[in-house]
Amino acid sequence: MTELISRLEIKKVHQIIQRVDIFCSALLLQAWRRIYYIFNKQEVRVSIKERAGNCLRCGRCCQASIRCKNLCYDEKGLSLCKVYDQRPQLCSLYPYNKNDFFFHIRETCGYHYDN
Ligand code: SF4
Ligand code: SF4
Repeated sequence: MTELISRLEIKKVHQIIQRVDIFCSALLLQAWRRIYYIFNKQEVRVSIKERAGNCLRCGRCCQASIRCKNLCYDEKGLSLCKVYDQRPQLCSLYPYNKNDFFFHIRETCGYHYDN
């Protein structure tokens, strides 16, 4: 019994560490992609032309760290942006190159870079 409890606790601690890890790495990417964009606008304009696929409207990139207050969902469960026409440029530019992915949702995003 004691062993089971300690196993469950270890699992819980592991899950918490995982969540913190995801949260911190997402925050870092959010900060990094802004800085990168400021200094590499021309490069981003070129690299985003290589972006393939489509947005699946899962909304995961809008809540990669903290959920954006403008994110909502329609009756089909597809994400909607309340300020779509005025959304920040960096939202429409996600992901702007092959490194610009939140690692925990990279595989489920509808966009990809082949090169
Ligand atoms: S994670 Fe990818 S597929 Fe999902 S909403 Fe963002 S850009 Fe679209
Ligand atoms: S402003 Fe819109 S597109 Fe940008 S993160 Fe928020 S919900 Fe997503």
